Amino acid sequence: MSKAKKPAAEELAYNKNLRAEIETDVNDSPRARVHQVEWRKIMTGEPVEINPSIGHGFKIMPVSEWSHRWKRNDDFPECLHCKSHNTKEHHFVQTWCRGKKTWESELLCLDCHKFSWRSYKDPDFKTPEEYERDRWDAIIAGQDIPLVQKWQ
Ligand SMILES: [Zn+2]
Repeated sequence: MSKAKKPAAEELAYNKNLRAEIETDVNDSPRARVHQVEWRKIMTGEPVEINPSIGHGFKIMPVSEWSHRWKRNDDFPECLHCKSHNTKEHHFVQTWCRGKKTWESELLCLDCHKFSWRSYKDPDFKTPEEYERDRWDAIIAGQDIPLVQKWQ
């Protein structure tokens, strides 16, 4: 009796089997919308909201305190600006559709305070909406009837 072959964990990892270049970008402030407002306040010394799980209210915080709860991404620990590994990830999203993937990651470097952006998309990645639109386009194309006639 042969065992069914399970997909290797690698095939399901967002950072493995990449078939396109990772887009990279370095910025002085977050490219991801999340934390943009707070970062501006941190940099100008304005109080920011205390994490509700710790307390309440607002406080002026150094970068280290503000980012205390974020974790380093050990898949991509390196700051794209100064090469430091003293980084924390503040934004990560991944989307899978029919085995194809797209993802975004952004790190804050605690040494140079730059934000390192990485994003990736499989060349043939499509969202469920795009699959649906393409299916309808194919149906309409296959009918060989000018669209206008359908509505007359
Ligand atoms: Zn850095």
